[in-house]
This record gives sequence, C-alpha cells and structure tokens, in this order.
Amino acid sequence: MNRDQELFERARRVIPGGVDSPVRAFGSVGGTPLFISRAEGAYVFDENGDRYVDLVCSWGPALLGHAHPEVVAAVREAAVRGLSFGAPTLAEVELAEAVRARVPAAEQVRFVSTGTEATMTAVRLARGATGRDAIVKFAGCYHGHSDALLAAAGSGVATQGLPGSAGVTQAAARDTIVVDYNDLDALERVFAEAGDRIAAVITEAAPCNMGVVAPAPGFNAALRDLTSRHGALLIVDEVLTGFRVHGGGWLGLEGNAYAPDLVTFGKVVGGGMPLAALGGRADLMQLLAPVGPVYQAGTLSGNPLATAAGLATLRLADRGIYGHVDDRSTQLQLAVGEALTAAGVPHVVQNAGNLFSVFFRDGEVSTYDDAKAQDQAAFARFFHAMLDQKVALPPSAFEAWFLSAAHDDKAMDQIVSALPAAARAAAGS
Ligand code: PMP
Repeated sequence: MNRDQELFERARRVIPGGVDSPVRAFGSVGGTPLFISRAEGAYVFDENGDRYVDLVCSWGPALLGHAHPEVVAAVREAAVRGLSFGAPTLAEVELAEAVRARVPAAEQVRFVSTGTEATMTAVRLARGATGRDAIVKFAGCYHGHSDALLAAAGSGVATQGLPGSAGVTQAAARDTIVVDYNDLDALERVFAEAGDRIAAVITEAAPCNMGVVAPAPGFNAALRDLTSRHGALLIVDEVLTGFRVHGGGWLGLEGNAYAPDLVTFGKVVGGGMPLAALGGRADLMQLLAPVGPVYQAGTLSGNPLATAAGLATLRLADRGIYGHVDDRSTQLQLAVGEALTAAGVPHVVQNAGNLFSVFFRDGEVSTYDDAKAQDQAAFARFFHAMLDQKVALPPSAFEAWFLSAAHDDKAMDQIVSALPAAARAAAGS
C-alpha cells in the first residue's frame, strides 16, 4: 500500500468518504485520490513524492499557476499583520474597486468566503428585492450547495448521479423551477405560467459543471430580455468563468453586451484563498444589511489573507496571461481531439473561452441530458492512463479542464505525449 492509499484509509475513518468535497474522492473513476503535499507552477506533488502536471488548478483559482511567488509574498506580508480582524480593511476596498473596474455590472461588491455563499446571498437578495419566491435554474448548472440551488445541479451532484440532495425541504424544491439549458421556448412557457412568482433566473455565465456547454449565441441576452419583461432579476454566476476566461469574465468576453442585475464571483478572485463575491446594481446591493433589510454576514468575510491573494492575482492577470492560457487551451483541445480520433473513440471537445471539456460521445452537447449520455467508463480509463503518465485530470467526465499561465512547453509536452496511450485505453485496446 502506498502513502496515498494509507492516508485515504485513515481519512475515511475520520472524514466521510475521506474528503471534504465529494468529487475529490475519485468516486466515478475509481482508485485512490492523490493526497497533495505541495504544488508549484503547473505541477502538484502527492504524498508518495510523485509529481503530476496539474489540469485541475484547484478547480479554477490557480490561473497564474500554483504558489505564484508574488501572490505568496502578498499573503505572507498580510499574515504577519494579522490573520483575521472582523473589521473593514483597505485591501477589501481595493479589491472591490478592482472587481468593479473589470466588471461594469458589479457596481457594488460584497465579499464572502465561498461561491455557495455568493449565490445563496444573490437568491435571497432577489427574493427580498422582488417580494417573489420562485427561482429558475438550469439543469446541469451548479451554483454551490445551498438548498434552493441543488436541484438538478451539475458538478459533484452529476458525478455521483444524484437527482439533488436528501435534506432539502419540499418547500425549497417547490420554489426552484428547473429548465433545460439553452431551451428558451421552455423558459418562455415557464414565465407565461408562473412569471409573477419568479424572483430571478440564475445561470452560469457559461456552464462548466456538466462539462463545458457554452450558451447558444444570444442566449444570455435573451435571458436578460425575458427577465426584464417579467420583472424578475437575472443572476449571472461567474464563480468559475470570472477573471478566468477574460479579465472581465464571460461578460467581458461577450463585450458586456448585456448586464445582469447580480453577478457572483469566486475562485480566481480569491487567488486560491477562501474568497468569493456578490456584485450587482448599486440599488439592489443597497438592500443588503446594514443598509437594507436583506441580511447577510460572515466572521471571515473579506479576510485579509484572502483579499491580499485576490488583489495580487487580479493585478498580475494581464492580457499576456489570458493570451497564454487561451493558446495553451487551443493547443490541448486540438491534441486531445486528434488522439481520440486516431484511437477511434467517440468524443466531442467543447469550450467556453479557454475552459473546455471532453465528452465521451458523438455529437454536440447542449443540455444536461446530452452531457449525461456519455461513456463514463471510457473517461475513467482515459483518466487513469493519464494519471499513470503523471498527468492529473479532473476526476470526473463532467468537469472542465483547467490550464494556467504556468503551463509552459515542458508541461504541455508531457500532457500531449501522454494522450495517445490514454486514448487507446479509452478505446479499450
Ligand atoms: N458556482 C459555480 C459556477 C461553481 O463552479 C461553483 C464551484 N465549482 C460554485 C458556484 C460554488 O462555489 P464554492 O465551491 O466556492 O462554494
């Protein structure tokens, strides 16, 4: 038994499933998760002492690569000044200004610690602002694990094949209306029937939690029109895409052609520390306590180490960084496609900016049902063949692959040269 296996056994005695977030457990691919001892640039090192090229990037935050020296220095400097104050700081003002400068829709910003909190607060704010109860979400979109948003969620819920979650009340489920992604007709019908009950539509800016399924051209703008016509709010969740696909997130990539009422951020905005944010129209944000009646709070909200990491990350994330990640992403998408084609494996590679995923099936994927109709066993074989060659992919067929500015030629060569054998494994040969 190697050290990771020993640790996994030990972990399972004291931590449910041995993990603090389900998808980490390798449930759908089998085997033992890597217990990471450290990470640097494009690489993670496990407790066995092996080095892997990392395509998880902490599920998004590590845009600059792991442990970027300037980000680490910023966190160190902040740490010696104190770990947490529970009081306002200069850094959170600067970070809020940095977010607003990049995302015009975020006229005001409130920092929280996780994406779950950001979307949960957005939902509460939408209900408080409209006096309505119902929320519309799309099947396969993941917005964290608050009760209202777990129905037909992607990410770990998809990986485990769960319809939602035990412990969510019927009332919460009743107030969540789930519509197929990219299906405007269905959404129009929902609004025609229940428009005066709907507080908000929440959507991933570009869904990446059922695999990557970009919005059809004009889809998000149509959501803007439809919600406006019915007096409902539009919440665009950029937790995953924000500051990753473009300096201005997916909204920026689409030229800010439409403006959501509320927008949520996480991951890159915290530079790898626990930090997320809710932004939006100033008049709506003013409904949050202490100004308005919608309550929201957090002991660790705007934590000084987290804001230091976020600020350093956003300041470093210039056009060159996004250009690099975009180029690497294009290179890898092509290489994966070529390898799977050569091995005769049915597949489709889909992207939303530099985020992409591989579906082990033929034909375009535009809904969650399409995404589920893939050969997960083939993915598992592919995944393990890559892992054997020291390339760590996200351990689920429903997750995006993440690159970083630290993925240089050497790291890319290691990934690309591992692909043919992995593709053959996926083919079962
Ligand atoms: N929204 C989206 C789009 C996400 O991808 C995630 C997490 N992957 C969340 C919300 C929840 O964020 P967190 O895990 O920080 O609670």
